[in-house]
Amino acid sequence: MTLMSPDSVTPTRVNLLNFDLDGLADFCEHLGEKRFRAVQLFRWIHQRGDPGACQFDQMSDLAKSLRGKLQTTAVVSPLPVVSQHISTDGTIKWLFDVGDANAIETVFIPELGRGTLCVSSQAGCAMGCRFCATGHHGFSRNLSTGEIIAQLWFAEGFLRQHSQSHGHSDDRSDRVVTNVVLMGMGEPLQNYDALLPALRVMTCDHGYGLSRRRVTVSTSGIVPMMDRLAQDCPVALAVSLHAPNDVLRDQLVPLNLKYSLHDLLSACLRYLAHAPRDFITFAYCLLDGVNDGDEHARQLIQLMQTVRTHSRAGVGCKFNLIPFNPFPNSGLRPSSPGRTQSFARILNAAGITTTVRKTRGGDIDAACGQLAGDIRDRTRVQQRMERLHRPRFLHQESAT
Ligand code: SAH
Ligand code: SF4
Repeated sequence: MTLMSPDSVTPTRVNLLNFDLDGLADFCEHLGEKRFRAVQLFRWIHQRGDPGACQFDQMSDLAKSLRGKLQTTAVVSPLPVVSQHISTDGTIKWLFDVGDANAIETVFIPELGRGTLCVSSQAGCAMGCRFCATGHHGFSRNLSTGEIIAQLWFAEGFLRQHSQSHGHSDDRSDRVVTNVVLMGMGEPLQNYDALLPALRVMTCDHGYGLSRRRVTVSTSGIVPMMDRLAQDCPVALAVSLHAPNDVLRDQLVPLNLKYSLHDLLSACLRYLAHAPRDFITFAYCLLDGVNDGDEHARQLIQLMQTVRTHSRAGVGCKFNLIPFNPFPNSGLRPSSPGRTQSFARILNAAGITTTVRKTRGGDIDAACGQLAGDIRDRTRVQQRMERLHRPRFLHQESAT
């Protein structure tokens, strides 16, 4: 594998992180090689704990002819790391440079028995939700499949190298990232063409081998794309609801003006027929005095009746109450802990499984909705990136 910084990637070289297995087989064919050779190559790229250590010429079980062709035509191109922050609770946030003054963020959340990687799908977001820092910053561009996968590729490699119990084997049980959630920056279903191959890489046995229930796409509710996802790659689905009626949701999630709650819940029901779990997770960000009253909870119960009565085994949905993470000029406040508990109690009492999400990484602005991809000082960033490219991995900034 040839590792290069994007600066040194010649335009004629193809970044292999952009391919799912089928795409890589097409590429092998294009090189005049047999399609099946892609499997071994794919495993080298995605299943090694130490990506920096392997080079195309060291891929001993690949045909020599293929290795030679890869050296001149292909590259595995990681994203430059701008910074890394480690929270007191073990959460790690990376800021990656995606060019043109854009940066994206990726967050690793370690928990007992599992490690969740929160991945970005766009630089910025066009949806403009009232309570979201990413939305406030506006939309820059879609990420490519390679840029989505590079986040997982990097995190897995880094974490394996830095965790004592993990060596450099290609044994899948060694995986540090056990779950991926598309809950970083951006609306994943607005970048569907790049998202789909990325999901395939994540769930492919020769790639990251994550089961469909361990990969979650979170959406603000792009109805037609939810239907396509159900057909193409039905991973676990989280829907950002945030309001129990259209009047309020129109204000908080402008996309609701296009796809009403009725349309959205109908799409959820259709999705359930394909989903890897028998429920959909609804995210609800509690905003003081806006959507957190007892009456809102009761309206939600009524609304959910449709999903619950139509779904398998009568389960259908779970609620995840997210404490609002404030950011400058949001004009919104989080609900009090007491209000949050009351809201959860009302839903639970009605038989809707409801949990309050623990805020992780708050001290490093890594919590939900705080990801803004801010590169404040381009000069310093440039210097940091130069330092980063010299050795292999990271410059660790202000570990807390
Ligand atoms: N665009 C997708 C995924 C990224 S947002 C979506 O909206 O679902 C990931 C989650 O963070 C969503 O549930 C979103 O509603 C939530 N979120 C956004 N801003 C937040 C904030 N300031 N505090 C808490 N949660 C927030
Ligand atoms: Fe975009 Fe999700 Fe933020 Fe809404 S909550 S602006 S859809 S990233």
